[in-house]
Amino acid sequence: MTLNHLKHLSLAIAITAALGACKQPDKAAAVPAATATASAAPQIHIDESSLTKLPHFDAADLDANTPVCTDLNAHVNGKWLAANPIPADKTSWGNFNMLGDRSLEVQKQIVEQASKGGFAAGSNEQKLGDFYRLGLDEAKLNADGLAPVKATLAKVDAIADNAGFVNYLYDSFAHGDAQVFQFFAGEDFKDASKTSGYAYESGLSLPERAYYLEPAYKEKRDAFVAHVERMLVLGGVDAAAAKQQAADVLAVETRLAGASLTPIEGRDPANQYHWVSIAEANKATPHFDWAKFLAAEQITGVDGFSLSQPKFFAEFDKMLADLPTEQWKNYLRYHVLNDAAPFLSDAVSDENFAFYGKTLSGQPEQKARWKRVLGSINGTMGEALGQIYVKQVFPEESKAAMKELVGNLRLALKDRLSNLEWMSAETKAKALEKLETFDPKVGYPDKWRDFSGLSLEGASSYYDAVLRANAFENAYRMAKVGKPVDRQEWGMSPQTVNAYYNPSKNEIVFPAAILQPPFFDPKADPALNYGGIGAVIGHEIMHGFDDQGSQFDKLGNNANWWTAADRKLFDERTARLVKQFDEYTVNGKHVKGQLTLGENIGDLGGVAIAYDALQKDLANKRIGAIDGFSQDQRFFLNFATIWRGQRRPEAMEVMLNTNPHAPESLRANGTPSNMDQFAKAFDCKAGDAMVRGGDKKVVIW
Ligand SMILES: [Zn+2]
Repeated sequence: MTLNHLKHLSLAIAITAALGACKQPDKAAAVPAATATASAAPQIHIDESSLTKLPHFDAADLDANTPVCTDLNAHVNGKWLAANPIPADKTSWGNFNMLGDRSLEVQKQIVEQASKGGFAAGSNEQKLGDFYRLGLDEAKLNADGLAPVKATLAKVDAIADNAGFVNYLYDSFAHGDAQVFQFFAGEDFKDASKTSGYAYESGLSLPERAYYLEPAYKEKRDAFVAHVERMLVLGGVDAAAAKQQAADVLAVETRLAGASLTPIEGRDPANQYHWVSIAEANKATPHFDWAKFLAAEQITGVDGFSLSQPKFFAEFDKMLADLPTEQWKNYLRYHVLNDAAPFLSDAVSDENFAFYGKTLSGQPEQKARWKRVLGSINGTMGEALGQIYVKQVFPEESKAAMKELVGNLRLALKDRLSNLEWMSAETKAKALEKLETFDPKVGYPDKWRDFSGLSLEGASSYYDAVLRANAFENAYRMAKVGKPVDRQEWGMSPQTVNAYYNPSKNEIVFPAAILQPPFFDPKADPALNYGGIGAVIGHEIMHGFDDQGSQFDKLGNNANWWTAADRKLFDERTARLVKQFDEYTVNGKHVKGQLTLGENIGDLGGVAIAYDALQKDLANKRIGAIDGFSQDQRFFLNFATIWRGQRRPEAMEVMLNTNPHAPESLRANGTPSNMDQFAKAFDCKAGDAMVRGGDKKVVIW
């Protein structure tokens, strides 16, 4: 289910946000004729008065006690962060979260109204309403207990040998239930016009391999085993057996971890794609028949796929040969229970939260049920909900304003590329060609996904609805394998507060929910928009030229377009950015410069071209100081504002270990401290903390 090579702006995962005028009554006339009958379906209406207020740059938030040249982030965000502690049901808090809450509140109004009924059978509203009602029915969830998952657990119990385990996997993948590894459909690395299957390492419960292998994480491992034991007991295993089974789960995952990539290795495109014929795949894993697997997924007419991490799949095969069947069954039993946990009774769901929420991420309280249910709706029917969301709260005129901003950023990069001193004319020409072919997408997809094949009718439980949605999703994805790529399709729903670049499509995508203050406001002065969404647009464009994106050509193929000499000069520059971020520490732990390199290149180039674009925009305008700040100053002040955020120590540790994005405070400071434009705007001097002088200053694009 993961599109591994989409590069997101932040890991504010699938949270969402909104603004906008309530649907005007006259828009009702635009309802398609088929449904505009006398007994029309109810109209969904959003009451915006109750929504979380949109955050925005406010000069009153600035902290005069921390000079801007010492710490831009603290100057802009310090006071606010001190006064606004992280809510108990969250692991982080800041502007992304506030926009996310606002989006969720809009979504809640939509699904609540949909769940009251009256919508046509088979309509998206009806399905969203049914899904939501089932998810909120706490009394039924608790009364049902384990009943919804019993049939799956019985299948696990019935496995007789390792061949039976393999048969279980063929079947479970075909229903959208992936175990041990993932199998997804994505643009082919070598021919981006077609979709290929990708078998991808997975199967771990803890955040990454180090948690299994390094002494530093022993406490986390012990807590994990204790959690598995409790979960198994909740799943009906007797206490003595549960202890042994929990130890088996850790043993199985530890072997998988030993053969898994580190998060840094995982970023290398060379570790993400490894094409094999079906015969070669079967030779690599003699105990797992990929022809049978593909047949179960109803994939036909393909002669191969990407067995992306050969080392992992070799270990998987060894384990199919030498692991006692009971250990595989114990591993599976836990994973089936844990995957189902969010959709079962409070007892089971709370145990899942106690480990993954509280212990691993430091979150004191579980999110309200309605938020969790919306989370799973977003994971299964995100576009169905998004279609209603944008109709209700996304102002169409934002699209045109955004297209203009994107155009200005592209021109700014074109100038920078043309004038780049260190790059040869040969590589430059290729870079410019790539820039020319960028495909920007704004707000929402031109073509909406069709959910008519998904039926929730007669779903016996919330879990049953989730299984149906997962199976529908899986069939949809697997049907793409071997087919041409659909360039209109989006990899993120419009109600998501985020943005991405996809190197395989050479596209930049800006969902509706991020097109609001503090990022974007059609009524704001240019500095705020260029410092906000301009920096985001710049960030996504620059992903096409970061350490990964630069390995993909204008067509989206993983092909080299660089001269060796230019690549060497590029690597020398990026090594200095690695060093800059390696030196940062949070809670005494170092940031990983290599892990966060792509995102930091995106920020560094992105803010630079956003700044250039602002200068061009201002050339024909005369805008004096606002609140005492020049346009250049307001540009950087709003850039820092978009990164206003704080995180619990436990969640911060996981972020530093696994997340390709650096923590927010360092994104706010890291890029401006490399920019002469920033120093000039605030009259910062050499020696100030926010001025990286001499050979410490990093400029790449
Ligand atoms: Zn990014």
